[in-house]
This record gives sequence, C-alpha cells and structure tokens, in this order.
Amino acid sequence: MTAIRVGHLYPGYLNIYADRGNIAVLARRAAWRGHELVVTELGLAEAIVPGAHDLYYVGGGQDREQLLVAGNLAGKAEPLKEAVLGGGAALLAVCGGYQLLGRGYRGIQGEDMPGVGLLPLETVAGERRMIGDVLLETELEPGAPRTIAGFENHAGRTRLDPGAEPLGRVLAGFGNDGESGYEGCRLGRAIGTYLHGPLLPRNPWLADWLLAQALAHRSGGEPPDLAALPDELESRAHQVSAARARSRGGRSGQKPRVFPGRSRT
Ligand code: GLN
Repeated sequence: MTAIRVGHLYPGYLNIYADRGNIAVLARRAAWRGHELVVTELGLAEAIVPGAHDLYYVGGGQDREQLLVAGNLAGKAEPLKEAVLGGGAALLAVCGGYQLLGRGYRGIQGEDMPGVGLLPLETVAGERRMIGDVLLETELEPGAPRTIAGFENHAGRTRLDPGAEPLGRVLAGFGNDGESGYEGCRLGRAIGTYLHGPLLPRNPWLADWLLAQALAHRSGGEPPDLAALPDELESRAHQVSAARARSRGGRSGQKPRVFPGRSRT
C-alpha cells in the first residue's frame, strides 16, 4: 500500500463543472489497487513544498475566481516548478487552472492575470465562448494512441509556444483556440486541458496514467503497470461522450457562441 499524496490547489475557488469528481475518481481507482489517496488542500495560506506531493491538481473557474487566486498562485511559481519540472511530480490542470499554469491570462474584461509560467503557453479571452463536447486523439505513450472525451466551456484562446507539445489533436470541438486543431498541453508528467465535465470518470485510462506517474514520483522508479479494472460503466460513459462530440462535428462546422450580458467568465 502506497500513500499517494495529492496537493489540491484552491478547491474553494477553482471547482466548477464538478472538477472535484476528478479527485473522487483518482481516490477510488487508487483504492481498488490497494493504494490510498491522501488529499491536502493547498489554498491561499498554504505553501507549496517541493517533494511533499506526488500529484498536483487544479480545477476550473470563472474569471472572477481566477482573479482571486492568480496573484497568490504566481507567487508560488518557483516551488511549483521545482516540484513538477525539477522533482517529477505529476500535475493535472483543468480549464481556468490550465490557463493560470501558463504565462498569463487576459480575462474577458481585459484584466491581466499573472501565470505560473510552468506550461509554455499564453491565453487571451475572446468575445465568443467555445462550448460543447470534445473528442481528442492523443499519444501520451508513443505507439499507444488513445482518445479523450470531455466537455469544454471557455472564452480563453490558448496559444502554445512553438515546439510545445499539445495534449491531443482535436477530432471534434474547439480545443485550445478553435483554430490550431490542438487541445491542451503536455510537459513531461504535467497535463493542462480545457476538458472537464469532469474529465477522469469518462477517461479512466488517463486517471491511471496520472496515478502511475504519481507512484513513480513516490518511489523514484518507473511508472508501475496498474492492474486492469473492468471499467464497463466507464467505457460506456466514454462512448456516449465521444458520440455526442462526433455528432457535433469538426471545427469547421461550428461557430463560437456569444452570450450577451454574460461577460464575467
Ligand atoms: N474563465 C475561463 C474562460 O472562460 C475559464 C473557464 C473555465 O474554467 N471553465 O476561459
């Protein structure tokens, strides 16, 4: 039995779209393999201590909530980078959290929020929101292509730096900016993505990939092969979500939506 130590960043602020469901999936899938997920809340008052956590998680939020935590998070950039890029801790950042892991986010009202600068990207909000089911093709492990299904709802347009690795190629949906054909960003054991809904219940292989990376950080060795689980319900959830995204069509068939009077998020 291994205690997998998770640092959950700002759960009181960045928690829309049932992002906490991702933590529930990680906890249950760890327990089914005889491991324990020990989740610590890392809020405004808590320091980030490199080596203290095997996996960091940060969820999504509206611009208003992002504004409340952005400066605090940016002030912890060095220990977070040391923990993840230097120390090899795993990281999952969703939507608003994903944006703040880059160099910065300019919100819909033009408010400039500082970022951590851990992921090689920048985000600027556009007038129209990009909303709906998404399907990606990804290859986190070379030679093992997988699909990721989820839901997106963001005004931010994220541009990856040249040479940065996206999380996946968009099969249906908008992705990072509705133009590039890419979604998310992957840097070693760190993943940023716009996909929520939440993300992990319908993509259990991705939950296992994160757990294996966290266990590798804990042991200092290679990511272990986790025992397979039946995942019948999870596969059905993935199929339903993927089918909804496919029926939505490719990027060319859709336009971002404007919501008059809703300028906050
Ligand atoms: N407020 C950000 C945006 O609209 C992030 C939204 C989210 O986390 N769902 O782009």
